Amino acid sequence: MIDLANFSRMALCHRNTPLEAMPRLTEHLGGPNLFIKRDDCTGLASGGNKTRKLEFLVGEALAENADMLVTQGAVQSNHVRQTAAAACRAGLDCHALLEHRVTTAGTGYATSGNVFLDRVFGATLEYRDGGLDMNAEAEKLCEKLRSQGRRPYFIPGGGSNVTGALGYVDCAREICEQADDAGTQIDWIVMATGSTGTQAGLVAGLFALQRDIPVMGISVRQPKDAQIKAVHKLAQPTAEAIGASDLPSSKILVDDGYVGEGYGIPAQSTLEAINLTARCEGILLDPVYSGKGMAGMIGLIRNNFFETRQNVAFLHTGGSVALFGYEDMIEPMLGADEKRLSA
Ligand SMILES: *Cc1c(COP(=O)(O)O)cnc(C)c1O
Repeated sequence: MIDLANFSRMALCHRNTPLEAMPRLTEHLGGPNLFIKRDDCTGLASGGNKTRKLEFLVGEALAENADMLVTQGAVQSNHVRQTAAAACRAGLDCHALLEHRVTTAGTGYATSGNVFLDRVFGATLEYRDGGLDMNAEAEKLCEKLRSQGRRPYFIPGGGSNVTGALGYVDCAREICEQADDAGTQIDWIVMATGSTGTQAGLVAGLFALQRDIPVMGISVRQPKDAQIKAVHKLAQPTAEAIGASDLPSSKILVDDGYVGEGYGIPAQSTLEAINLTARCEGILLDPVYSGKGMAGMIGLIRNNFFETRQNVAFLHTGGSVALFGYEDMIEPMLGADEKRLSA
């Protein structure tokens, strides 16, 4: 049992999100039994993993009597989109700093997808060149806002701090309960890992519940060792916050074989994973995170990493809105193996 009742929280999420089988992808790959935890269906602003984090972050902002949320992300940040929507629900303003972190994505990147929806939700946006310490930039901005009499609540990139990670502590409980109710033993969880809060919270939650389900994070940006260190750095205090100490770093598993050229640049394997998942299961992934995560799961299956009898659950963290920011890169992939009526 994990008691999260002592933490401020605002209900934002449709739950439980479904835990479903993926029979056609399982058959296509000839591998283990594949399941998918549909956190792309959290409900807020087309869904995604940031919504669970925002329940605790916005809860804390309201408890502290903030009048606005300040955060940061890449131009096509799913986190900023969900934060902008959460601010609307909470009656707060939202101001976001967007980093020009990706420069090769084509015409829709700067105006469509997530950044378009940020504006639909009325967030105010400011831009920064790539490579700056964006959390430091946002903190600086908060100082300025405070001097002007505003009460900003700062949410770090990806909502990844202990407060945000609590959302995935709760998801760990939800997955265990759903699997138990269905009489299914989950042997592995595979997911995309970026700013770390999702994997850190999930691993901390499973650890506190004493459930020995290994979680494989597929890195979307940095080398394995750096990502393991970063996830552990947050998983440890998150576990402590829920009364479980000494989470060993051996619990943090990362594969960095699917990053491609870098953050926000889909690799060939990313595009293949998007196509395959769409065409086998009717499920949309995204070019920055869940496409890479799924590419990782597919790659692990092809390398016989899992046993055929095992049950492997992919945590779908959302992000399909970003497809519209990457149309120029994805479009050429479609013709190549488009379903055709045979002549
Ligand atoms: C932010 C994000 C992730 C990564 O989660 P972190 O907690 O930042 O590691 C994965 N998938 C999608 C779609 C995201 O938006």
